[in-house]
Amino acid sequence: MANTELINKVYIGLGANLQQPEEQLHSALEKINLSDDITFCQCSSFYQSAPMGPQDQDDYINAVALLKTTLTPLALLDFLQSIELQQGRVRKSERWGARTLDLDILLFNNEKIDLPRLIIPHYGIKQRNFVLVPLAELAPDLIFPDGTPIAQLISTISQQGLKKL
Ligand code: ATP
Ligand code: MG
Ligand code: MG
Repeated sequence: MANTELINKVYIGLGANLQQPEEQLHSALEKINLSDDITFCQCSSFYQSAPMGPQDQDDYINAVALLKTTLTPLALLDFLQSIELQQGRVRKSERWGARTLDLDILLFNNEKIDLPRLIIPHYGIKQRNFVLVPLAELAPDLIFPDGTPIAQLISTISQQGLKKL
């Protein structure tokens, strides 16, 4: 394993609403844990959430996990997308449609990244209760790279449609 000083602290968001979504999350976490380049640290509770966008689809199961990795942000994105594909993710033109697995990088250290393929912090992090609530479970004292404390967002966000399992 590489020099520990190179280890990056990362939060990822997991979501699924097809083909036994809880199992999809478990098997994604297992694959992540098997990687030599990633140490799985912790996962939040699982949450059931109402779908964003098209409403004619099942509720989602969501969670947030804390990882440590020696991978660069883009290499981590490649790895996570390969897991999405292995678990049958089909990218359709419809935005926010049903999927077996979505793995998004929420935070990568305290970095701000703006690349065509990768924007960090994830652009939806502050508006989505199914991201903020599990993230706050793992990191109640977290401060976003722009200086906003997560506690401030949690105190005002609606928890409608979100159920801790
Ligand atoms: P949303 O991004 O609104 O949560 P989604 O997760 O369903 O929607 P995807 O189809 O999974 O969207 O991803 C679309 C593209 O977003 C990916 O191909 C990826 O290059 C890009 N992307 C940009 N920033 C990130 C990020 N922080 N994490 C994951 N993908 C990202
Ligand atoms: Mg997403
Ligand atoms: Mg995604």
